[in-house]
Amino acid sequence: MNRIRLILLAGLCIFVALLSIAYITVGMDSKEPETTTQNTTQEPSQPDTASTEPDTESETTTEAVSEAETTTVAENTTKEPETMGSGYEYAYAGFNPSVAVVDSEKWYLLLVNQDYILPEGYTVQTAEVKGGGQSLDHRVVPHYNKMIAAAEADGIDLIPVSGYRSLSRQKSNFQRKIDYYASLGYSKAEATRLAAKIVLMPGTSEHNAGLAMDFGTNGNYTLDENFANTEAFKWLSENAADYGFILRYEEDTQDITKITYEPWHWRYVGVDATKEIKAQGVTLEEYLGMD
Ligand SMILES: [Zn+2]
Repeated sequence: MNRIRLILLAGLCIFVALLSIAYITVGMDSKEPETTTQNTTQEPSQPDTASTEPDTESETTTEAVSEAETTTVAENTTKEPETMGSGYEYAYAGFNPSVAVVDSEKWYLLLVNQDYILPEGYTVQTAEVKGGGQSLDHRVVPHYNKMIAAAEADGIDLIPVSGYRSLSRQKSNFQRKIDYYASLGYSKAEATRLAAKIVLMPGTSEHNAGLAMDFGTNGNYTLDENFANTEAFKWLSENAADYGFILRYEEDTQDITKITYEPWHWRYVGVDATKEIKAQGVTLEEYLGMD
């Protein structure tokens, strides 16, 4: 029994000792907090900065996001003039036209030339013109027919020689010119470049869009510069504007149009644009700001 009491007493002593140690430790701990609290109260600036920092960080993140957006927009802008690229059929001769932008509302201002090609699959709804044998975009035909009727009334003989031309027809015309220059001894690339000054590449001609007519007149069907000396040419120069047609490839604009002088080639652009183009004395390229 005594032994058990002794053990219990010892246990109690140990318990009390542990308890007091625990008290002292807690006491020390609770004393220290004062300094810690002071530190903590001094520190608030730190958590503050810490809490503002994430804000700035998130701001930076937002900035980064908007920057990324701007980059995408910029990329889109530079991508806009989509070109045919190295896969283009005549890329070997240095040609790389951009795909023409088709505006369904201002369809009559469509620009096609060596630098702008009709989009793949572009279709033209054609209609036969007065005089027969040739067709144009059906939307041009009423204006064309009115002009021909007016010319007739003035005793002018205007013969439609070449209006709408299919892509395959344009291609064979172009190839024939390339072959001609190649037969003179020019390299394939040089022959192609020379051909392009006279016949446009398929899809880059206004004839492929059905927007232009090549005219002949009594005694002149061959589409040569002599057409400029005919009564028909004189009449067109004075009156075609009233019906929305312009002389497209003039003698002194070859550096812009990249096409030799063609007094026989008349292009529909609408009456308003015709008047502005004539008043400004510019090419269609310059008028559209795409020269
Ligand atoms: Zn023509």
